[in-house]
Amino acid sequence: MTATIIDGKIIAAELRARVAVEVARLKKEHGLTPGLAVVLVGNDPASEVYVRNKGIATVEAGMNSFEYKLPAETGEADVLAKVRELNADPAVHGFLVQFPVPDHISQQAVIDAIDPVKDADGLHPLNAGRLASGLPAMVPATPEGCVIMAKRAGGDLSGKHAVIIGRSNLVGKPVAQLLLKENCTVTIAHSRSRDLPSIARQADILVAAVGRPGMVRGDWVKPGAIVIDVGINRVPAPEKGEGKTRLVGDVAFDEASQVAGAITPVPGGVGLMTVACLLRNTVIAACRQNGIALPQDF
Ligand code: NAP
Repeated sequence: MTATIIDGKIIAAELRARVAVEVARLKKEHGLTPGLAVVLVGNDPASEVYVRNKGIATVEAGMNSFEYKLPAETGEADVLAKVRELNADPAVHGFLVQFPVPDHISQQAVIDAIDPVKDADGLHPLNAGRLASGLPAMVPATPEGCVIMAKRAGGDLSGKHAVIIGRSNLVGKPVAQLLLKENCTVTIAHSRSRDLPSIARQADILVAAVGRPGMVRGDWVKPGAIVIDVGINRVPAPEKGEGKTRLVGDVAFDEASQVAGAITPVPGGVGLMTVACLLRNTVIAACRQNGIALPQDF
């Protein structure tokens, strides 16, 4: 069997176009331009690229983009002050602090300081709790992207067995909550799980969010399964020249694509959905803050 590729480029472009339509409507009918702000502390090159791409996508969708670059030596108190400033800024409907932050800043203190209604990344404990309780919440963008892709490949996911490898607050746990909401039977595996391959082989939907290049092998995949590869790992690529690198996922793509029914590539998969879902989150936040109803299918 050769898997169908779940193409992040196409699905993300559709979602971004949908967001742009909604933004145009909000401007026209309500005089409201949603605004997304990103705070970057330090100059990690990967984060800089990511933040720049978010800014471009935000403007392309017709929204206001705000970027705040703080030097790496900025103290925690000053980062928290910036968070409070954005909490109070009426032009900013959603924002995030790009992680990782330098070691002298507590990531959790930053998350806790964000106003939950503007929490574009959905990391605040209140949003995590609301999601777990089945209440409307700001939902982390990457997990949302995973579920949109799984539904695109599998339609109604009800009753399917989903196995998620990884239990981070950013990816694994919210993916599990979202798939539970889709009426999947959900198993969460992690570094202490025993016999991971046989757990993975039970999955109708297998989500890998680990950060280990090619860990999920072809014989971990149930024939016909939907495989969602969240991992983004940079590995040496001597075939491209000395010192060159390339991006790979947590799934051994060549092997798994011979067994799976559908699979996301890396790059070109979940990563593209993250930005699109972030834009969507900002529109949702702007509407909630202004008491504006969104179409059911948004
Ligand atoms: P993380 O916080 O480091 O969590 C990794 C998870 O994997 C942990 O739950 C860990 O288990 C588990 N794990 C580690 N080694 C394992 C092993 N040998 N067997 C089974 N489980 C193992 O990472 P994350 O933030 O969730 O990110 C995961 C991956 O997704 C990374 O490659 C990251 O770059 C990527 N990512 C991509 C996007 C995107 O837009 N596509 C967004 C976010 C993250 P324990 O809890 O037991 O330690």
